[in-house]
Formats: sequence, C-alpha cells, structure tokens
Amino acid sequence: MYNEIKRRKTSQVRIGSLFCGSDYPVSIQSMTKTDTRDITSTVNQINKLAKIGCELIRVAVLDLRAAKAIKDIKREIAIPLEADIHFSPILAIEAIKGGSDCIRLNPGNIKDGHSLKEILKFAVKKGISIRVGINSGSMPEGDSTKPHKEDPALAMVNTALNYIKIFEKQKFYELIVSLKASDVLTTIRAYRTMSKRCGYPFHLGVTATGFTPSSIIKSSIGIGTLLLEGIGDTIRVSLTDTPEQEVIVAREILSSLRIRRFSHEVISCPTCGRCQIDINRITKKVKEVLDKIPLNGKKPPIKVAIMGCIVNGPGEAKDADIGIAGGNRFGALFKKGMLIKKVKETELIDTLIKEIKDEVV
Ligand code: SF4
Repeated sequence: MYNEIKRRKTSQVRIGSLFCGSDYPVSIQSMTKTDTRDITSTVNQINKLAKIGCELIRVAVLDLRAAKAIKDIKREIAIPLEADIHFSPILAIEAIKGGSDCIRLNPGNIKDGHSLKEILKFAVKKGISIRVGINSGSMPEGDSTKPHKEDPALAMVNTALNYIKIFEKQKFYELIVSLKASDVLTTIRAYRTMSKRCGYPFHLGVTATGFTPSSIIKSSIGIGTLLLEGIGDTIRVSLTDTPEQEVIVAREILSSLRIRRFSHEVISCPTCGRCQIDINRITKKVKEVLDKIPLNGKKPPIKVAIMGCIVNGPGEAKDADIGIAGGNRFGALFKKGMLIKKVKETELIDTLIKEIKDEVV
C-alpha cells in the first residue's frame, strides 16, 4: 500500500456492513455526544459524522428508553452502530433486539457468567459482534479500591483475557478488544502485551485525553505508535471536543502514517523572518480548494508544497507534485521536480489552483 507497516494477523469480525481485522483497512469510529433518547439529534449527528468519514458509530445506552431508541436511529443511518453498555444485561439485550451491529461490554461492570450467557444467546441469534471494552477507569471492583500491585497495563490485559474465556467457553469468537488507559504509555504497553496473547482485532484509543492540543498529542502518540507496529484495526480518538473533530484527527493520524489516504496533501513551512510572501493565506486557500476535490481512484493523490523561501523551499517544492518557493513578493513554481516559472505573489493563488486542477481534475 503506501507504507511498510506489517499488520498483526487477527481474526476478521463483522460489524454490520463493516469488517474489522487485519484483512481490512483500519477503520474510523466515533461516539455520539447527544442524548441517545433524542433520536432526531442523534441521527443528525451520526449522519454528519458519516459524511466526513466516520465508519462506525457508538451510542451510549443509559436506560431502557435509550436502548429502545436504537431501533429508530438505525432506520435513519447508513453506518453500523455499536451500543455502549454498562451495568445492565437487560439494556444489552434490548440494544441487540433494536438492531445494534455490535455491543460494547465492560468487564468492570457486567461480569457474572449467567448474564453474559443470556446476552450471548441474543448476540448469536442476531449475528452481531461484541467488543470487550476495558477502561482503566472502570476496572473490576477491588482493583480500584486497593493500590495496584500489578502493572495497570497487565491488570487490563488479564481482566480482558479472563473475560474472553467466558465467551470462548460458549464458542463465541466474534470479539473485538480494547484496553484504554488515560496514560499513553500504559495504553501502549497494554495493547502490545495483549497482541501477543490473543488474535482478536483491536479497537485502539487513549481515553480521557482532555482538551486540545494535549488530547490530540496523546491520541496521536498512543494510537500512532501502535499502528506503526501493525497493531490496531479500528480507531477512536477521544477528545473533549466535537465528534467531528475526533473523526478529522483520526483521519489525519491514518494519513500521516500513510495507512489510508482521504485527501490530497498540502505541506507548508512554518514561516520565519526570511518569508516575504503570505504563506498562511496561500496555504489556506489552496487547502480549501484541494479538500473539495475528492480522491477518485483514477488519479493518485497529489502533494502540494507551499514554502516561504529558498532555504528549504526548492527542495520541498521539487519533492512535491506541485510546489512554490517564495522570494521577494514572488514564488518560484515547481512541477514534478522542475522549475516552471516565477509568478508574482498577487497571481500565486490563481496559478497554483489552475495547476492543481490541471493535475487532478
Ligand atoms: Fe523560513 Fe524559508 Fe524555512 Fe519557511 S522555508 S520556515 S521561510 S527558512
């Protein structure tokens, strides 16, 4: 593909129309931030997210009304839905009956074998998958009240493995696993350890990351490190922000690692005292235009470089499909590594856009 990452071999698990596992692209998911009982708002949010690239949506199931709302929500959306269940097996069963494509169960709060068997009966009947969703903040009782003697990463791994055994005993294997901690290094260690202990696909994420920029940095390092090692099959970037932002950041993580491409690429220099053209304005305009030109599969994505001066400019511009290196109120235009012409700053944006359109449209 675009990189040399060797994916960890996993089983392939179906979540409605989406497949999760090493034979399939790493998918992007998010979680609605609306009240699931408010069907109109939830549907609107899901459809907006689907438009920008969300491929699986999770909704919180707070009570029976929320579980029952899933049926109506499902009718209005085109992407698979995962119901996020805590504490109540009844809610899990109701969410499955309502047409959830997957349910997330938390071993920290639904753990008795009888309840799980009941849930499994319905999951098998409907052919849905289950995510074993461990979160460091809701580990099984006892672990949170006593100081951990055990490495928290290992505690998550052991909890997940014990939980998985219950499903396997019932010959249920449609499982996806997540092991999220708010600490990046703990998260990485947990997934790395688990990757050697089971072959189920992983949902990757760092939890409770807070506001940007630290949330984006934590998610990018945590998710990115694991993806580079071939670990991870679907990702959710958790931000104290809009779900749209979560999807945008997830796409950027995958694009940066060249795991998937969603758009053409624009690089621009940070500018410094040497810069004599308006890099911000030019980059903004070019990016606006390029983002509206979808990848069509017929032509490969292009890279456009917008550089402020001749220090790094010509090198980066030559390396891109189209590039400019700024001078004193002009830009040197490069195409496929060749200097084409010098263009006045006032004509730079129009010239660049024309060149881009000639290349990709
Ligand atoms: Fe500064 Fe030139 Fe580098 Fe841009 S390319 S940051 S203007 S030295």
